[in-house]
Amino acid sequence: MTDFDPSDYEIAELGPAIKDIEDAAELEEILQKEHRGENRAGAIALIESRIEKFSDDDEEPADADGLDLSEMSAADVGNALQNIDEVEDLQSLLEREEAGGDRGSVKRLIQNRIDSVQGSDEAATEVEIDDRPPEEKYPDLDHPTRDKRHARALRGGVYRDMWVYCETQAGELIDVSKEMLGKARQLMDQYNEDYGVSEENSEASETESRTEAERVVAVLIGDDVSKHVEDAIAYGADVVLVREDERLSRFQHKAYTKIFCDMARAGASHDGGEVTGGRDEDWRDYDKPRYTIFPATNNGRDLSALVQGELDSGLASDCSGLYIEEEVISNPVKTGVAGEKKEFQRILHMKRPDFSGFEYSTILCIDNPTREFHPQGASVIPGSFDIPDPNPGREGLVLEHDAPLDDDWFPVTVTDFDQLDEGVDLTGHDVIVAVGRGIGDAPTHGIELAQELAGQFDDAEIGVTRGIVTGSYQFDGHVEQYTHEERQIGETGQVVAPKLYIAAGISGAVQHKVGMDESDTIVAINTDPGARIRGFSDYFIEGDLFEVLPKLIEALKEGRFGEAIAGDAGAAPDGGVAADDGGETR
Ligand code: FAD
Repeated sequence: MTDFDPSDYEIAELGPAIKDIEDAAELEEILQKEHRGENRAGAIALIESRIEKFSDDDEEPADADGLDLSEMSAADVGNALQNIDEVEDLQSLLEREEAGGDRGSVKRLIQNRIDSVQGSDEAATEVEIDDRPPEEKYPDLDHPTRDKRHARALRGGVYRDMWVYCETQAGELIDVSKEMLGKARQLMDQYNEDYGVSEENSEASETESRTEAERVVAVLIGDDVSKHVEDAIAYGADVVLVREDERLSRFQHKAYTKIFCDMARAGASHDGGEVTGGRDEDWRDYDKPRYTIFPATNNGRDLSALVQGELDSGLASDCSGLYIEEEVISNPVKTGVAGEKKEFQRILHMKRPDFSGFEYSTILCIDNPTREFHPQGASVIPGSFDIPDPNPGREGLVLEHDAPLDDDWFPVTVTDFDQLDEGVDLTGHDVIVAVGRGIGDAPTHGIELAQELAGQFDDAEIGVTRGIVTGSYQFDGHVEQYTHEERQIGETGQVVAPKLYIAAGISGAVQHKVGMDESDTIVAINTDPGARIRGFSDYFIEGDLFEVLPKLIEALKEGRFGEAIAGDAGAAPDGGVAADDGGETR
């Protein structure tokens, strides 16, 4: 019996958590627990894919005689064939299919499998890859991107280290920079262990006979940023690259991109896939970073896309989970050989929420036979990782980037700037009453209820989800001010950590969660018992907010609001509201 309980993990955390479990039977047990528990589609897909990975190797060759082809679809036959390695068995299957259903698709599958196990030319067919630039392949193409230079990335390049862009704002190193440094440290420590960059484990480094550990490289660009060097090292960097210039005091995407890329390529040019020029830098001897990570802030998003484009690679944006692992791929575009699987090592798995946070995708940036995609790059949603405890005793290498900065990189000169009004500050309040799209049936009344509830506390404010800000609800004038972006809580809004967070009609998308899950007590009201927010609420009231909120207001007025819910949030509670409201608590 395994102790592993998948319900202890958010989907984003589950991948890394099961990454060391290689026993198909144990994984099967975990799958059953997930089915019996939360039964999340994303978690199930994740565990099943891992089972598939480890069952493949252990699976006994299937008994071809036992297969009843007439009962099987072509897809079933295709799956079963993967476990039959004897040409004779396959030929007998082919004959049976010819004598029976005689389906062309099934016969082709069997023939392909025969070819594959025979290792004949037809089986492991080298896929002919036409890597001419699109503008050459399709000269008549009428498309606005036609004039773009076809990116020719390196082949046989050398890549090392994980680079972290450490953003500063108003002179401060922002939290997400520290979070990323901590995560990068963890990833590269594990990487160095897994991929044998110590002398003892040279076997694992077959593909790259390097023995030095790969590093975390922090990049600081700005006007007065060298003051953050010690912090960058304390939070996990081995090397800090610094570029200071007064023209960099405010973020300018062209200049920042050019500088980052010049650092990454050590001034070399990679035109036509060839490396030309470049500086000799004692501290490194590689063509480009192996991995890059950036914050998914406004400026970080801008910079990450430009840098990754300029470096001829890809970007997984807005990630909330990262891990490094090998990956077996059969897509011939990646392997170059039809019908064969190939293992790619050291792949950064970049997990990101999709479909408004209801499903997770894992993005991989894998080389093609004709070109290499490095750095493997991600931008990271602030709050996805913990800020590590800084270690002031850590030592690191600090290097100044002093290559000339081209005036063309600064097409804009900032002569003056104005700070916008702060708007509404939701931080530092005892209580936040937040509403989401659940108010949709009567939006104005929903906000009125939130107002009334907030009014029962000494220090409460109203917040909203992005669903409200971007929705097309019609609000009456007297509540409209509560529905603007300045009250949005979450990844692209404010991050709050009140004593009490009341979330009414909010599903709990990850982008909302990162803005409120540090709250001391979270009370969620939702009609859907399967709402994601339930997983990170202290109290979950299953019910219609238009019925539950008036009861909460009433309870507060009568001094019955449960201590368990209100804590010392400013009310004077004296009773348990969850039970009074007939709501379900957890
Ligand atoms: P929904 O997801 O539609 O949920 C409504 C909930 O209300 C449902 O769970 C439903 O069961 C419940 N409900 C319905 N009727 C009732 C009722 N009568 N009583 C009680 N419950 C009811 N979102 C943010 O909030 N903040 C951000 O900063 C943010 N940044 C984002 C950044 C990016 C890059 C992206 C892609 C998305 C971002 N989002 C953000 C959007 C986010 O993904 C979700 O779409 C959004 O949070 C959903 O808002 P919601 O919970 O109000 O709506």
